[in-house]
Amino acid sequence: MRYKKIVIKIGTSVITDENGYLDLPRIKNIVEQIAQIRKEGVDVIVVLSGAVTAGKTLFQEAKPVTSPKEKQLYASVGQISLMNYFSKQFFDKKITIGQILATKEDFRDRKHYLNMRSCFEALLGKEVIPVVNENDAISFHGATFTDNDELAGLIASMLNCDALIVLTDVDGVCDKHPKHKDAKCLTKVDPKETNVFDFITSEKSSCGTGGMFSKCKIATRLSAIGIGTHIVNGTKENIISSVMEGKLVGTEFVAQKNISSMKRWLANSQGHEVGSVFINEGAKEKLLTNGSVSLLPVGIISVEGEFEKGDIIAIKTEYNQVLGRGVAQYNSSKAGALMGKKGEKPLVRCDYLFIIE
Ligand code: GLU
Repeated sequence: MRYKKIVIKIGTSVITDENGYLDLPRIKNIVEQIAQIRKEGVDVIVVLSGAVTAGKTLFQEAKPVTSPKEKQLYASVGQISLMNYFSKQFFDKKITIGQILATKEDFRDRKHYLNMRSCFEALLGKEVIPVVNENDAISFHGATFTDNDELAGLIASMLNCDALIVLTDVDGVCDKHPKHKDAKCLTKVDPKETNVFDFITSEKSSCGTGGMFSKCKIATRLSAIGIGTHIVNGTKENIISSVMEGKLVGTEFVAQKNISSMKRWLANSQGHEVGSVFINEGAKEKLLTNGSVSLLPVGIISVEGEFEKGDIIAIKTEYNQVLGRGVAQYNSSKAGALMGKKGEKPLVRCDYLFIIE
């Protein structure tokens, strides 16, 4: 098997038919593939979408979901029917699954993040397959994940996985719009060489909340922290097995260098910054060219917001360009007092600093 630890993200369009009903033979085939790779000793985490669509069909509702209340209702009801079917299929294969319903808040700081990680580790330690979805029934409207692709990326990064396999209903990323007759699927993408965003639109899939744009954003981010992403057609039989056997299917975003788990966490902490520091050109140059440099007060030109020791802060240029994120070693008042001074303790130590490349 090509990988030892993976996240498989299953999109709504893969497991439901055109009327929104669960596609039972397809789910069966997916479960069979997962059971097989689990048997070979691979740790698998499943991120499963489809609760809202499944709930909607139970109410025989045809019109699109418009209000947050409707979404909460359908998610609450649909999650059960989805898990009922999946757990039965896994049970038949003698595999235990555990459900984790997450909200964006569960990743808000290092404490919550580590709590989440230990939950996954507890399940994986007992060979239980975690099956994750966003807790759409109680997710706070306005503070939700962009989609389950984002959630899957966070989990792959948090658990130090080798790869993320995204099952969707198209063959991969094309060099033209997929409806174009000359469109060809890109088999391998090195985000440093190919800008896939030149080829894709921000169109979303008809049933899930994600789309190719968001998938490519996550894949590019994961590639930069050493995790490969495969975007493949989950409606095709045995596609997961093909990826695991190393066959050229769909589009692979090739993994770049590997980074520490602290830096991975910071890489995925966008939106959780408590304050910002602005740095001068000299400091910027140093941070961009040398991976083992700490952020010293001498390079700081201003401090924004109130943060405490241990909070995540954004590091910005004087022109407000975000360079990265780090964990503050002391609070904002001290940072303000030391700003511009030489020979002082770093505000962010290099191990606690992530620079966006
Ligand atoms: N959490 C949503 C659901 O279960 C799906 C989100 C997505 O499509 O990314 O219906």
